[in-house]
Amino acid sequence: MNTATRWFALVIAASAISCSAPARLEAPPERPNIIFIFADDHAAHAVSAYGSKINTTPNLDRLETEGMLFENAFVTNSICGPSRATVLTGQFGHLNGVPTNRDTLHSTRLTFPKLLQQSGYSTAVIGKWHLKVAPAGFDHYEVLRGQGPYYNPTLYSQSDTTEHVGYSTDIITDRALNWIESVRSSPQPFLLMYQFNATHRWWDPGPDHLNLFADSDIAEPATLFDDYEGRTTATQEQEMTIALDLTERDLKLESPRGLNAKQQAAWDAAYGPRNDAYEKAAPEGDARTRWRYQRYIKDYLRCVQSIDDNVGRLLDYLESTGLASNTVVVYTSDQGFFLGDHGWFDKRWMYEESLRTPLMIRWPDRVPSDVRNTALVQNLDIAPTFLDLAGISVPTEMQGESLAPLLQGRTPDDWRDAIYYQYFEYPGWHMVRRHYGVRTHRYKLIHYYEIGEWELFDLQEDPDELRSVFDDPAYADVLAEMRQRLAELRKQYDVPDEDGVPYTDFPSQRDL
Ligand code: CA
Repeated sequence: MNTATRWFALVIAASAISCSAPARLEAPPERPNIIFIFADDHAAHAVSAYGSKINTTPNLDRLETEGMLFENAFVTNSICGPSRATVLTGQFGHLNGVPTNRDTLHSTRLTFPKLLQQSGYSTAVIGKWHLKVAPAGFDHYEVLRGQGPYYNPTLYSQSDTTEHVGYSTDIITDRALNWIESVRSSPQPFLLMYQFNATHRWWDPGPDHLNLFADSDIAEPATLFDDYEGRTTATQEQEMTIALDLTERDLKLESPRGLNAKQQAAWDAAYGPRNDAYEKAAPEGDARTRWRYQRYIKDYLRCVQSIDDNVGRLLDYLESTGLASNTVVVYTSDQGFFLGDHGWFDKRWMYEESLRTPLMIRWPDRVPSDVRNTALVQNLDIAPTFLDLAGISVPTEMQGESLAPLLQGRTPDDWRDAIYYQYFEYPGWHMVRRHYGVRTHRYKLIHYYEIGEWELFDLQEDPDELRSVFDDPAYADVLAEMRQRLAELRKQYDVPDEDGVPYTDFPSQRDL
């Protein structure tokens, strides 16, 4: 029983005897404020605390030096809406009703913000929501509709609709700080879900970073020219290559809609007059892919830099107001992303770059600082963790595990030794086949169940996942163990034999 839980037990005991005798309670320990910073598509390998070779994120890195970094944090399904629903419900998509981006998180679902609200927390979500219905369980919300634009976003709240002028990452932070300011003198603790639409496609950089990296090229990943030999047909069928599938809008040969005159002038200064850059700049063959990669990755990293700036603003604000010491600050993303790895952008796959997500947690004096934890953790664990830190019992229907013991510096002996993953959205954007699989510390088994193909990777020998050893006799015992582990996890998590997501027509984006 943690201190907050003990406190609740005392309250319950006191209320039971309050008719006969006035209870004397010690002052309750403060329950922590919780700030959940949620980026969109921000890959761990674009955070310098995670060893990025292509950018530096000094403010995000503070959460590692002043807190705990999880080296093996993964998602259950590498796609926006489903990841958000899993964070809120602590359940896999086959149970919470959001296996794909087309699904809606029904407002009656049990979520951790609802439980925190019921227990006396002030609750708010500001920024990207992406679950179609109005947020439930929040005293206050100001959210984008769908993905939302990078410039001049409209935010929808319970009572009004406000068209803001400026850059979304800055505005979401302004609104988040404004809300904290409005509740910080209250005796109630607060939960803030502070959620960027960066770094999602179309990667429109902010005015402060339009010219960042203008004079230098970004290092290419080793697998930019992956030929997909040694893996399933699924890797060859996808439509998410740097070479073929980035559009003119991605490459900023058109500017975003709705820029005001000042924004348009800054944009033109950075990118040149619209639509005339490509023919002049894009060379042929591999050099063309390299040019497209630079165009893509620089804008992606520029968007990351605005997140870093704004997280710095938030951390400075927490210091200056004295809130830092009793506020749990979490930084994570709804999934990872391919940064030219395997020749790709986007996510969806169970491969490392999209399966992995950054996760850093700071709670001064409670969580040890400068610690790198290697336990296998998932976005499934967020809801149970926050409930546990607030002294609230975790409902049995939540499938994740509280990270509280790990945050106290001890990993239970029976902590999970494998994670389960499932992606459902085919046919759909980027045409990545449905698959499920299991990952342990060393191995990964993936089943592309609608086409009957499998892959097995030895991550120690082949960290880039370039050669499946599924058919290699030397791995027969490993394969048998992984099949067994996969079956056990599917049973543990109540995964039905049929995934229940209807197959629908979806046009190839290459045909449009
Ligand atoms: Ca996302």
